[in-house]
Amino acid sequence: MSPQPAPPRGGGRHAQARVAYAPPPVDRAAPTSGAYPVVERRPRRAAPTSGGRATAWVAAHIVLGLTPLALCFGEAREGRGFVVNLSVALGFVALSVLGLQFALAARFTGAAAPFGIDAVLRYHRQISFLAVVAAFGHPVLLFCVSDHYRRLLDVVHDPLRAKLAWLSVVALLALMVTSIWRRALRISYPVWHVLHSALGVVIVLAGLGHAFGVHYYFGEPLVRLVWLLYAAAFLWLAVWVRLVKPLMLWRRRFRVAELWPEPGGSVTVGLEPARRHARPFRFRAGQFAWILPGRSPFTLTYHPFSMSSSTHSSRVEFTIKQVGDFTDSIRGLRVGDTVYVDGPHGSFTLERHPGMGFVFIAAGVGVTPFLSMLSTLADQGDQRPCTLVLANRYEDQVTGVRQLARLQGRLNLRVVHVISRPSDQWEGVRGHVDAALLERLLPQHRRSLQYFICSGGQMVEAVEDYLDWLDVPRDRIHSEKFGMV
Ligand SMILES: Cc1cc2nc3c(=O)[nH]c(=O)nc-3n(C[C@H](O)[C@H](O)[C@H](O)COP(=O)(O)OP(=O)(O)OC[C@H]3O[C@@H](n4cnc5c(N)ncnc54)[C@H](O)[C@@H]3O)c2cc1C
Repeated sequence: MSPQPAPPRGGGRHAQARVAYAPPPVDRAAPTSGAYPVVERRPRRAAPTSGGRATAWVAAHIVLGLTPLALCFGEAREGRGFVVNLSVALGFVALSVLGLQFALAARFTGAAAPFGIDAVLRYHRQISFLAVVAAFGHPVLLFCVSDHYRRLLDVVHDPLRAKLAWLSVVALLALMVTSIWRRALRISYPVWHVLHSALGVVIVLAGLGHAFGVHYYFGEPLVRLVWLLYAAAFLWLAVWVRLVKPLMLWRRRFRVAELWPEPGGSVTVGLEPARRHARPFRFRAGQFAWILPGRSPFTLTYHPFSMSSSTHSSRVEFTIKQVGDFTDSIRGLRVGDTVYVDGPHGSFTLERHPGMGFVFIAAGVGVTPFLSMLSTLADQGDQRPCTLVLANRYEDQVTGVRQLARLQGRLNLRVVHVISRPSDQWEGVRGHVDAALLERLLPQHRRSLQYFICSGGQMVEAVEDYLDWLDVPRDRIHSEKFGMV
């Protein structure tokens, strides 16, 4: 085990971090972290995406989502009336959009990269709401039209095709409720994840069964062919995610080479390829991977962790804080144990946001992507100015001090520790990160720097607001939230 440096206690390198903080004389009230005030948000420009690829993926998704709609209107029968045709169109769109969610869940690195995983997850949620409206709109419109359809409300005596429709709708309802109120319902993440995946499959399979059973539109060879292709694609996605991908992960599995405890209830795990001559793990600093220790890669739930090591290191390291069952189990790992690593993922990287200098703001274990960024910059001999503002509760519980100590003298780096419950001996900054503190720390040319924020809690939004308030352009602020799911 590597030695563990003493935590920052006001001396040595961390003396730089001792900013005798007094709120600066400002002419407008600086938002403070105490109350996390609602700052009036300026409309934000989205962070830039790698344009061409992003447009291509969005276009492909829209075309695939709406093709069934075109088919439906192409086949619209005059005798059925506008409302019935509209209702069927809504059903088609709901089914194709919900089926395409499997593609989002498949974690295709290339597809998610231009947007960032948080944007993909946001899109997954928002587009699901649209699909839900369409899915419920489909029967509601039919029930409004005539008694003929209202008879289908009698589920017990319904034909199989209608029963399948009900099954799909009920599963969709269950999926919505458990997703929106997961925490309130006290459903643990792993249980929710299994339920979510199972309900997704039920919704799409029952929906397809219903659509094929209705015949009216599916009698047309073109419509039938397109939907057969969609069904095959959905099935292929399921096989790829549950079978092909785990097999690929098994072929390039990793083994624990080293692990050591960190302050702040964290453990750093160093991995290397388990098979000799296997390709090393290549990633960009700031990215993350879904990992799973164990014998079999065929488990449903992997957990995301940012790489904390330099991209130039022969080993890939993860620094993991104990917060629940999975992260607690990391302590039980031993050298030589197998770990499956699905990645790299994410676009929270320096390469995507080059600048004259960088400001990193983290709370607790949110420091991990910055440990990777800083050690990579050090290995590259990069001397651009960097500031790391690191918020923690106690000064002797700072995750990452070991790695930060290794960077001493290799970077143009200022580290500012902000401690919310310090001991009496603590001479550094006390309290929370807020706008007044940032205004004091940041240089005059702060608009030209790149800002990276990472944390598990609500700190990300608050710091975004503070930077907004300090007139930092929105496209220079990049954030990653560990608790985004
Ligand atoms: C992009 C990203 C990078 C991260 N990097 C790090 C890191 O470097 N170091 C670190 O300590 N933590 C990191 N996390 C957080 C870490 O993934 C969770 O703390 C961990 O999965 C919790 O699992 P648990 O069973 O121990 O705790 P639980 O009590 O089961 O979960 C606590 C919370 O973690 C989230 N979570 C749990 N399981 C998952 C999952 N399989 N997928 C997504 N979210 C989940 C949920 O919001 C849940 O409410 C990162 C999270 C994300 C999204």
